Amino acid sequence: MSIAPRQLIFYITLLLGAFLAQTSLASASSSTNDIAVRQLVEKNLPSLITYYTTLHAAPELSHQEAHTAEGIAQELRFAGFEVIEHIGKYESSKLKPSGVAGVLKNGPGPTVLIRADMDALPIEEKTGLPYASTRRMTADSGVEVPVMHACGHDIHVTSLVGVARVMSKLKNNWHGTLVLIGQPAEETMDGALSLLHDNLYGRIPKPDFALALHDSADVPAGSISLTPGYTLAMSTQMDVTVRGVSGHSSRPEAAKDPIVLAANIIMQLQTIVSREISPFDQAVLTVGTIHGGIKRNIIPDEVKLEINLRAYKEDVRQHLIEAVVRISRAAALGAGMPEDRLPVVRVIENEFAPALFNDEALYIRLKPAFERALGKAHVAKQDPAMAGEDFGHLGLERSIPVFMFWLGAATPEALGKAKASGIANPGLHSSGFAPDPEPTLRTGVIAMSTAALELLAH
Ligand SMILES: [Zn+2]
Ligand SMILES: [Zn+2]
Repeated sequence: MSIAPRQLIFYITLLLGAFLAQTSLASASSSTNDIAVRQLVEKNLPSLITYYTTLHAAPELSHQEAHTAEGIAQELRFAGFEVIEHIGKYESSKLKPSGVAGVLKNGPGPTVLIRADMDALPIEEKTGLPYASTRRMTADSGVEVPVMHACGHDIHVTSLVGVARVMSKLKNNWHGTLVLIGQPAEETMDGALSLLHDNLYGRIPKPDFALALHDSADVPAGSISLTPGYTLAMSTQMDVTVRGVSGHSSRPEAAKDPIVLAANIIMQLQTIVSREISPFDQAVLTVGTIHGGIKRNIIPDEVKLEINLRAYKEDVRQHLIEAVVRISRAAALGAGMPEDRLPVVRVIENEFAPALFNDEALYIRLKPAFERALGKAHVAKQDPAMAGEDFGHLGLERSIPVFMFWLGAATPEALGKAKASGIANPGLHSSGFAPDPEPTLRTGVIAMSTAALELLAH
């Protein structure tokens, strides 16, 4: 088929006109959505802040998030979602699982999953806030511990509730299926897996996209930050039980002291990253707990070490694991430990978190939407971190595109003080972590609702 030049110009003009009309229609509907989202968020903000402060004062440990999950289920039902409760299957805990999913079907279109983690940490809160937690709970280990939402999962849950309210009111502005998930046990890294082991994607529509947010003490409240591609590292948990031969403290020659051996192992483990891993590869090895002994004049039987490894590459992770086994064993042999008392080293496979890879196409699609809804100055780019998250599991080894963004939670004053003093603002997992609720929740609900509308409105 041949086309005369004048005809060609006519067709190009027609196509350009159609394109411009569509673009301006799309941007008009986007900005209409932005206004509607903002109005709904402002209307709901006072009750969301109350929801947050109540939840903050009543945190629940990993594997025990029953009341938090009940609260989410109630809110989702009220917003018109179909709700499934008690999803999850643990290998390590016999407790009733507390995963909750809400499904809102709204015609043909893609399925978007949004996940909020629900669990708190065994930390005694020292923020001095009027709604600070004073709660104590019995941990899986049987020990009573203080509990605090020191990772801000209460911000995540409250944002999820806000998104449920906004999206159910804006049903005329989108098509498809929205799935909201309250995920248990992120801090123990077995929560996302427990949902999948309990056939999550057979019980809800399998998502085309999965989204999450995490609050941050390094980003000002009112802003978010984004990382395309690799965002968070793989996290691996290992236990080393250093065994000895017990005896009287006055007769070390008749015993084999596992405390001295454990100290030796810990120091040698710190040479793995510095001496065995290439400086071009990222890796962290932290011995997070050491428990052993019961009385000062007894040489104990054993000392337990809990180790956390971080890496981005599988071969680096394998090297770290093998080096922990090699060093523990060699140090014990060097201390004259008999073969049958060598350390027992275990990798806790069901508490492994894969590296979080933020889908690059989603980054390209969501960034302009965030900038339009929040203002360009409130959307920053962020470098990858060595922190870990089990959210990546929900992407089924990158077959479903996932995206997590950082939600600013710090007051400008706190950030200014940290910069001036050189002492970091109390951050995630700190007893002083205190998000600024109003701007943080406002931004969290606006940003996540905007992302959902961007993916469901086309
Ligand atoms: Zn955490
Ligand atoms: Zn967290």
